[in-house]
Amino acid sequence: MSLARYRKKRNFVTTPEPAGDVGTSEMARLLFVVQKHRASHLHYDFRLEWKGVLLSWAIPKGPCLDPSIKRLAMRTEDHPLEYANFEGVIPEGGYGAGTVMVWDKGTWQPDNPDVDSALRKGDLKFILHGKKLKGAWVLVRTPGYGSSAGRSSWLLIKHRDQYATKGDVAVERPYSVLTHRLLAQIAREGGGDVEKAASGDPEPGITPRSSE
Ligand code: MN
Repeated sequence: MSLARYRKKRNFVTTPEPAGDVGTSEMARLLFVVQKHRASHLHYDFRLEWKGVLLSWAIPKGPCLDPSIKRLAMRTEDHPLEYANFEGVIPEGGYGAGTVMVWDKGTWQPDNPDVDSALRKGDLKFILHGKKLKGAWVLVRTPGYGSSAGRSSWLLIKHRDQYATKGDVAVERPYSVLTHRLLAQIAREGGGDVEKAASGDPEPGITPRSSE
């Protein structure tokens, strides 16, 4: 695995994001993270640890626990494992400038231990053990949209199980699982654009779950 594309896009003198190195992965405890990212557009970066890096997809509308909903997920460059703890502000002018929140985090298990072959086939089934996302999921590659190298389009779909629900988990559970902050608070404390970040938080009047 390589972080060349990740490093090429960023200037580590100006961004607080980690430069990172390819790490080592243990099959028994593979990490997953979802980062809510208010960049030029709001999206959720869905990342699965594999072979010492985080395989990454950008999901404009975020994951959904309703099995009848398919969410577009654009494959993006692999990220370093340390990125899973990155929450803060990427300065204006840099790649992905805006505010990043660790929206969910936990471990994942592939159905088939041969993840590389599942990725090649474009059919990756797995279990998530997160705080917000749990149970069985699939990422399926789909033709259309931008399918240039490294920017293939996939669909993230929840399988039917006891964790499937109606309702929009992204709206109902908007807080950071690391710091219990909303995007606006992260931007304020990180010297970022608070107004832009707040546009990614739920509208006032929608009451988020207080258990977070
Ligand atoms: Mn992003």
